[in-house]
Amino acid sequence: MIPTIPTPDEILDKGFSRGKKAADLLRTQKIPKHLKGKKLEERRVVTACQVIKDKLKSILDAVPEIEELHPFYQDYIDITVGVDSMKQALGALNWAYGILAQLEREYSNKFKRNPSERASSIQREAYGRIASVVNKIEKDLDFLDFAKASLRNMPTIDFDATTIVIAGFPNVGKSTLLRQLSGADPQVANYPFTTKGIQIGHTERHWKSIQFIDTPGLLDRPVLDMNDIEMNAIVALEHLADAILFIFDGSETCGFHLENQYNLLKQIEKIFSEIPIIYLFNKMDIEQDEEYINQFIDNPENTLFISAMDGEGIDKINEKIDKIKKIDRTPDDVDEEELDYY
Ligand code: GDP
Repeated sequence: MIPTIPTPDEILDKGFSRGKKAADLLRTQKIPKHLKGKKLEERRVVTACQVIKDKLKSILDAVPEIEELHPFYQDYIDITVGVDSMKQALGALNWAYGILAQLEREYSNKFKRNPSERASSIQREAYGRIASVVNKIEKDLDFLDFAKASLRNMPTIDFDATTIVIAGFPNVGKSTLLRQLSGADPQVANYPFTTKGIQIGHTERHWKSIQFIDTPGLLDRPVLDMNDIEMNAIVALEHLADAILFIFDGSETCGFHLENQYNLLKQIEKIFSEIPIIYLFNKMDIEQDEEYINQFIDNPENTLFISAMDGEGIDKINEKIDKIKKIDRTPDDVDEEELDYY
């Protein structure tokens, strides 16, 4: 998403050495003596400006327009590095590009207006100004380099797939279930505030793509303990989720009482209020107290008893998943345009 970011010195070295090469090439050509000095220096300065401008442009072109990204990625970038800081850094590169274009014109004219004897000193002056412009964007280049590192291994989301987010306390069986539902090894990508990263599993059912997302370290602990940015990391998932699988461990071998698990569910229901939830009681292969569990069932028709480890109840989950409708998140303005058309 972000290309390799050079330092100001690397940019200047490249610009200046290419400028020198271009001038050297011109040296072998027949040019009237009184013009030769300034033609050479003009070529040197103009080439340096162009090479540096090209470098900046290649960075600017490679970074996608943040506003055009899916809201999930906009949120992801915002939580990870800050959208405003990103825009500021790109704006600075754009600014430097503009100034270099200006210097290119200004010095090209200056060489033309002055005799060859002055060409070397004009060239030095131009190089000084070019260096000063490029050095001014040092912190912006640094920032983009940091952003590149931070945004590497972003999750690859299939926005056309029906997306199911798995939640529940640690050790209730989320990743075991994800593997049962999606088969192959899940994709593991970076996700802010998750130590193990986000896990994404894909499957197809009746020609429908489905992806399962597990976020260890995020949707597995009390939401009330979270700060604003951590909350944003959860809210980003709201742009994706078409349904939530909330997993209880009624055996409590995960180390958490059902009451605490239930409290987490209530918080998640509040955050994802628009999104349907399927409630799963896992580890049913272990002997469990039915009466005790029943206290925590609010929604019997959407509650299933499973054993992720044994694959027990997976087909019932799939039946529920088949009924899930992908939430249409097309922006309103697109809808209106289409309506006008018809
Ligand atoms: P996560 O932290 O929620 O992703 O939980 P894991 O999938 O890593 O499972 C935590 C532990 O519970 C592991 O030791 C699993 O083998 C075990 N486990 C998961 N599902 C079941 C199940 O259905 N029955 C039993 N007995 N153990 C399970």
